Amino acid sequence: MDDRQFRDAMGKFATGVTVVATEVDGDVHGMTANAFMSVSLNPKLVVVSIAEKAQMLKKIKQSGKFSVNILAADQQKLSMVFAGQVKNQQEVVFEHLNGVPVLPNSLAQISCEVSGAHVEGDHTLIIGKVTDIRIEDSEPLIYYSGKYRRLAEEY
Ligand code: FAD
Repeated sequence: MDDRQFRDAMGKFATGVTVVATEVDGDVHGMTANAFMSVSLNPKLVVVSIAEKAQMLKKIKQSGKFSVNILAADQQKLSMVFAGQVKNQQEVVFEHLNGVPVLPNSLAQISCEVSGAHVEGDHTLIIGKVTDIRIEDSEPLIYYSGKYRRLAEEY
């Protein structure tokens, strides 16, 4: 199996899209991530998998806290901005929830404290203890097979 085949197979798992955000010395840094899941209800834990080479990893380790923002269907541009797919630096306005930067209008804004970090291969699994949540009622942005999608109407 080569890398392309592995990526193609993993891309068959349809996901939502999140932007992970943190703040160090007043500077907010965001990164698009779809390797996100809920881990535990009691205590309330989530996990994000972050590449060793990503700037985000050292920033989260420095700040000890982060947010996960689940993107709405009309936030594809933000996903592209925080994945480095938009060439010009974009001005993005953040709000704060429990001391961490969050993206307004995302479907869910989840503030977390880092409760564990596990290096696995070329990624680190960051475990977040959820400290607060805001939810909006809207449609999700979907990522499947390397492309952005929308949910079809219910049938
Ligand atoms: P950079 O590459 O330096 O930053 C990312 C981009 O965000 C830059 O263009 C930067 O200008 C912009 N940016 C950061 N902060 C701000 C701000 N405050 N205001 C405006 N712009 C800002 N990688 C993973 O490790 N794990 C994943 O689960 C994952 N899932 C992905 C899912 C999708 C759908 C996509 C498209 C990419 C995914 N990636 C994932 C890749 C990851 O998003 C990119 O490699 C990203 O560029 C890594 O970010 P970085 O922290 O290294 O910082």
